[in-house]
Parts: sequence; C-alpha cells; structure tokens
Amino acid sequence: MTEAPSVQYEMPKAYEPGKVEQKWYKFWLEKGYFKPKIDPEKKPFVIIMPPPNVTGELHVGHALTATLEDIMTRWHRMKGEPTLWLPGVDHAGIAAQVVVEQLLAGEGLTRHQLGREKFTERMWQWAKDCRQTIARQHQRLGVSCDWSRECFTLDEGPSRAVRTAFAHLYNKGLIYRGERIINWCPRCATAISDLEVDHKELSGHLWYVRYPLAEGNQFITVATTRPETILGDTAVAVNPNDERFKAIVGKEVILPAVNRVIPIVADEAVDPSFGTGAVKITPAHDPVDFEVAQRLGLPLINILNPDATMNENAGPYIGLDRFTCRQAILSDLEKDGLLVKVEPYTHSVGHCQRCQTVIEPIASKQWFIKMLPLAKPAIEAVLDGRIAIIPQRFTKVYLNWMENIRDWCISRQLWWGHRIPVWYCQDCGELTVAIEDAKSCRHCGSTNIEQDPDVLDTWFSSALWTHSTLGWPDDTENLRYFYPTSVMETGYDILFFWVARMIVMGLEDTSVVPFHTVYLHGLIRDEKGEKMSKIKGNVLNPIDTLEKYGTDALRMALSMGTSPGNDIKLAPSRLEASRNFANKLWNATRFVIRSIEPDRSDMEIRWHLLPVEDRWILSRLSRTISNVANLMDGFQFGEAQRQINDFLWGEFCDWYIEFAKIRLRSAGEVLSPIPVLVYALETSLRLLHPYMPFVTEELWQNLKQRLSSEWPDSIMVAAYPEAEDKAIDPHAERVMESVIEIIRSIRNARAQYRVESSRWVEAQIYSKQLVSAIIPYSETIQTLARARPVIFPDSRQEAQPRENALVMVLKESEVIIPMESMIDLEAERQRLQDEIEKSQAEVARLEARLGDGAFQTRAPAAVVDKERQKFYTLTDKLERLKQQLFKL
Ligand SMILES: [Zn+2]
Ligand SMILES: [Zn+2]
Repeated sequence: MTEAPSVQYEMPKAYEPGKVEQKWYKFWLEKGYFKPKIDPEKKPFVIIMPPPNVTGELHVGHALTATLEDIMTRWHRMKGEPTLWLPGVDHAGIAAQVVVEQLLAGEGLTRHQLGREKFTERMWQWAKDCRQTIARQHQRLGVSCDWSRECFTLDEGPSRAVRTAFAHLYNKGLIYRGERIINWCPRCATAISDLEVDHKELSGHLWYVRYPLAEGNQFITVATTRPETILGDTAVAVNPNDERFKAIVGKEVILPAVNRVIPIVADEAVDPSFGTGAVKITPAHDPVDFEVAQRLGLPLINILNPDATMNENAGPYIGLDRFTCRQAILSDLEKDGLLVKVEPYTHSVGHCQRCQTVIEPIASKQWFIKMLPLAKPAIEAVLDGRIAIIPQRFTKVYLNWMENIRDWCISRQLWWGHRIPVWYCQDCGELTVAIEDAKSCRHCGSTNIEQDPDVLDTWFSSALWTHSTLGWPDDTENLRYFYPTSVMETGYDILFFWVARMIVMGLEDTSVVPFHTVYLHGLIRDEKGEKMSKIKGNVLNPIDTLEKYGTDALRMALSMGTSPGNDIKLAPSRLEASRNFANKLWNATRFVIRSIEPDRSDMEIRWHLLPVEDRWILSRLSRTISNVANLMDGFQFGEAQRQINDFLWGEFCDWYIEFAKIRLRSAGEVLSPIPVLVYALETSLRLLHPYMPFVTEELWQNLKQRLSSEWPDSIMVAAYPEAEDKAIDPHAERVMESVIEIIRSIRNARAQYRVESSRWVEAQIYSKQLVSAIIPYSETIQTLARARPVIFPDSRQEAQPRENALVMVLKESEVIIPMESMIDLEAERQRLQDEIEKSQAEVARLEARLGDGAFQTRAPAAVVDKERQKFYTLTDKLERLKQQLFKL
C-alpha cells in the first residue's frame, strides 16, 4: 500500500508549490487513481487527448488543453464515474521530418545521404526523446490521464488500424489513385492537402503576352501571373460565346520561347472579362486548366522538377529555378517584342503551412479519399444531434465545410509516417492492397512486387484516433466499454483537420459517432491580444510559468474566464491573481487548522443551534455548489471557476473567517464556529480540486491529519460536493448580506474621508424590516468597521438628530455617520475654503483667457478646446467643493 506523503504538523507560513506538487503527483500515480475500473453498471466518462506533435516541447496551448481536460476528468472521477483520459502523441509526419532534417543539415547531412532505413531509425530515436519530454511536461501540469494507455500514432495497434481502414476504403472504392492537381511544396518535396496551404494576398504582376498565330500575321494576347508556365501551355482558350474570338477558334498559335504549335480552343470556364478574354491553358500546373484539358483531351506537360527547377520540357530554360526562369522568359519575350504590357496585380498565392515556401500546383499521381459519400453521414450526425458542437456557432462552420468538401489527398512523399499499404507488381502491373505486408502479387502471384514509397498524411491516422487507441479493429473490452467517447476537447483551429475527419472515419469504421460532444476552446493570446509566436517573442513557456507561479496558478489563469470558442488574453496580472488566490487559501486553511483544538474530534454541525452567519455561509456554499454543477454541465468552466473563487475568496475568507474570529475570541458561551469552518472549507476544497489539484490536496491532507478522520486517502478520490437543499436559507442570506453591506459602507466612508485607522466613528443604523436581525451583529460591525458606538434608532426620523451627517442608503438599511465623528470639522472647513479659493482664482484666469478674442482666433483650435475643457472641469469641481462646505 502506498502511504500518503506526510504533511508537517504545523503548516509552513507560506505556500511553496515547488515543495508539494511533485510529491502529490507521484502519490496519485502510485495509487493508480488515473486508471479507470471497468464497471458494466456505470457509464464511463471518456476523453481521448488530442495527441501533441512529437516535434519538441509543449506550448501554452497544450497547457490550456491539458487544463480543461483535466478539469473535466477530475470532476467526473469525483462524481464516481469510471473515468478514462487517454494520452497520446502524434508522429506529426511532415512537421517532425522537417525538424530532424534540419538537425541533419547541421551535421552536413541530408536524409538521402543517410538512406531511408537509417533516417527512420534516427527519427525513432528523436521521437522517443520528445515523447519523454512531452510526458514529463504533461505530468508537471498535473494531468490525471491514464499513462498506462499512452499511445503513439506509429505504435503497432494504431498502425494496424491505419492499414485496416485504408484497405477497407480501397475495397469500397473510396480510396483511389489518380492524377490530379495537388499542392506541391518544393522545399518539403511532398504533396500537401488543401488544408495545409496558407493563402496570402500578394501584390504581383499580370503580364500580357502575344502568341503569334501559326498562319498569317495575327496575334492573340493572353495574360498571366506566372510567365514561366508558358512552357507548359498546351492550348489557348476563349469562351465559346465571346464574339471577339469566334473566327479564330480552331486555329493554331506558336508558343513563344519554345516554338510549340498549340490549338486555340473554346471552353465555358473561360471568363471573358479576365485579361484579354483569351487565356493560356497549362494543364499540369493549374487546377482549372487541368479540368479544361480533361474535358477537351489536351495533353499535360509538366515543366518542373520536384525542387521547382525547370525540367527537360522547359527547352532552353532547363535547370533554372522557377523564379529565375520567370525573369529569363520575360526578358526573351521583351526582346522578341511579344510582351505587350505589365499591370500590377494582387492575387492569392498558396504557401506551405510548414515552411512558408510558395506552393506549386502540379499534376501528380497521388492517393485520394472520395469524401462526398463519407461526408453525408457525418453531416447527419451533427444535424440530428448525435454530436453537439460547443460553441454552437461552429456547427454552421462545420456543416458548410462538409457540404463543400473536396477529395482528400492522403499520400505524402515523406519517409516518416505510415507507409501506404500498396504493393505494385513488376510483372503484371496490378497493385495489391494488404493489411499484413504483402509477399506476392494478388493477381499473378509474382513475388516481384514493390511497396509504394509514400506515406500517409498524418491526419489519416489522427482521424482514427478515438477508436484506434481503444483497440479497433479488434473487438476489445476497452472498445466495447469506452467507445464512443464522451467529449472531444480541442482548439477550434483544427475543426477541419481533425474533428471533422474523426467524425467521418469514426462513423465509417464503427457505425457510431466517435464522441457526443465537441468542445472547442479558443486560442491563447498575449496581454495585448496578439497571437503568441516565436517571431514576436511573446511566447509563454508553460514550464517556466508554472515554476514561477505554481502549477495551480497557471491552471487557474488559463481557465479564468474561459468560455468555449473564445480566445483568451493571458496577462501576467492573471497569473499573479491566481497565485494570490492560492496563498489566500493557504492562509485561510492555516488559520482554521490552528484554531482546531488538538484533541478536537467533535465536528458535528448542530443545525438547530446555528447562528445566522453559519446558516448564511452554508446556504451560500450550497448555492455555489448547485450553480457550479449547472455551469460545468453546460461546459462553462470559466464561469464555474469564477463562482468558486468568489465564494472562497469573498464570502468565506473575507467575511466568514472574520466573523468566526470574533466568536473564537469571545469569552462567553458561544457555539464554536469550528465545525462550520471546517465543513465549509473542506467542501470548498473538493469543489475547487479539479481546477487547482495540488494546493487543494496539500490543504485537504493537512485538515485530514488534524482531524484524524475517516476521509478517503486523497481529495481526488473524494466525492464531488453536492448541493444540500436543507442548507438553503434565504433569510440568513438576506440578513448577512445587509450586515456585510453596512460594514462595507462604513469602511468606504472611512476611506473616502481618509479617517485615521485608529479613530472610531459613530454609526447609526436604521432598517425597517431587519433591525432586530442586525442588532446581534452590533459587535461584529463595531469590530470590522471600527464603528463605536453603533446605534439602532427606532424610526427614520429619530435616526438623524444632527444635520451634519453622511447618509448612506443601502439595499435594506440606512447608515448615518455624523461628520464630526470622522473628521475635525473646523480643519476640514478651512481645507475646503482654501481649495475653493484656489479653484476660484484658476477659474477666473481661464475665464479671462477664453474671453480674449485674440486668444480665440490665434491659438490652435486644439489648445482652445483644451482650455475650455479645463474650465468646465474646474467649474464643476468648484461647485462640488461649495456643496461640501455647505453640508459641513
Ligand atoms: Zn514546405
Ligand atoms: Zn502481378
């Protein structure tokens, strides 16, 4: 049996997070609290963690994910549900390969020099280190996920799931290999999906180029933003309804630079208003042209090598880089008098999301998933409510994307990832798709076969993550019990990349939705609202932050004010406030513990004897618990946190503890506040635990030790508080709210009149309905507001015997403070008189200035305005000073 770590008998004066966090995490781990027990009688709560990329360290976005998921997980676990939070890491295909290639470059090596096998070994070694770092960092954040189930996308199980899903889709005709225009990144040397392309509006040029007709002396002019692609033109197209070109459709032109003869064709896709109305057709390098070529049977001529230099089809330009070639062609065209004009032109240019290189659209043979038939059930699942997306506004975004979905290019020309399970026969030319490595051709039996060199898009394996981590394609107990999962919590920025595809693949592979709720959190921005980025230097490292402020403070700051779909600004003030909150709790608990007598074992709450303040705090606690339950059910974790904070900091620490201190000090026969103090504190700690797991555990264990009770071994397996109807007491709330309001108003008055802290002020309190309930709090008001005497007049008239008094009208009472009890009247009169004189002189000066015609006409308008504004402000102040003096 694991013993709970000891806590000191006397609590240290200050909270030092670094001293307690690791101790408790280790304890939780050893006790096996993170592992769920399968109980067929109970419905489990399941979250599959979005697997961080195995590309280095966690950033603050991961910390937000971890915090929100841990809040949900701890909360459900404390509610007694078998709770599984399954952690994992993604191999992050292209992103990870880029990082390791950069490391290699530092050693003067390329992956090709190393070879596929050696390179992959290197990747595995590197990935192993990163996975350890990521796990260690997650543990520092206090995550309560089941580490015994940690998965990596390239693990055996998920890899078999990938092959099974691929084979299944292929056999259904939903995966195909075809030549299409894809997005090619010349730097990464791979195809990437539409989603991985960043479109940027760039100012470029539109060049007008003349193509000579093959017969006669005529020309046809076309416009292009990429003149180098002229080399790949296989036609010039015009709109069939364009009268200007009717006569020349069917004729031929001579392609400049390479002198190839190409036809003039007609196609509806040509926009007569673009450029000259005639466009060049480059089928191998433009998606629209590709379709025109398919329709009209035009040939495809690829002019680029994989690294975006010109290939053998580029004639004299072979070997040039694409942008050097552009300049070379332009100067040749100019020389030949074929360049008509240049216009500045702003257009959208695709960039690789990973490396920001300009993407080339290239016709290429790749693997695709036919998305249209798969999107249908995924649309229905959201429309009929089987899946709810929070916040709701993203439902529309999701549906819109799904309804306009395009085929998904899933092959990548990389080495790091799931290799495509397809083998090509060198004898019969057929292909074999297999789950286990194929040994021979399925068609002719030949063993002369070769596996496709490409790997699958990383998101292909991520799309299976909800079921592949639970054992699919096998029918396992885990899959039966934990699938479908409960909540998919992730950032809204990967709604399409990941969430949508998980819904598609979950439904396709298992026929049920992979989760019931999608919770999308916002992005974390800096205090000015700017996105965090390495370039801006405003990145907050979560580990540095938790070392500075404590893990709980970081978690608190991240969940503070959080609401689904909204970005949050993580200002240092939030972190400081959260750290202060942890300290406040520490001090409060320390006070409670020190107040418990050493032999105290009687903690029973005698409800029928409780004074109003006890009934008030218990009522407020119960209300807070019930609000928190509703808010958490509605995924409003930020607001739930706010209510817990407000209760603990405000009502419990600032007021109830102060009331209790008075009782503890009083010599007479008073019911001890200790049982209620302990009860309210212990319950609140459990309420707060999902947000601040470490400090609540440490404080709770301190309480437990002092009370030697039969409590569970850890707060994290104690029950989450439930509201008690019998505790709700509207009368007690009304009375105590009035008492607090009275104390606060007197304190405010003291502050306003700068009353010395040693001075007692007199207060008269009148309340029509609550006076008899407030009178017992006379001593409390005296002590906490430094008011003496406190008088309770019988009527409103009787309440104001002196003219010179400050009257404060509160919700259910009036507080009257004679001015002379706060200030030295004569001195105050003198002070006001002095200030009035000073202001009057200044007003007169301004009046004279503003009345001066020369100033009005000569001074700049802004200066005149400023003086006028000053005049108004001062006149107003003067008026108020006079009133104050009059009152005195
Ligand atoms: Zn790239
Ligand atoms: Zn064969």
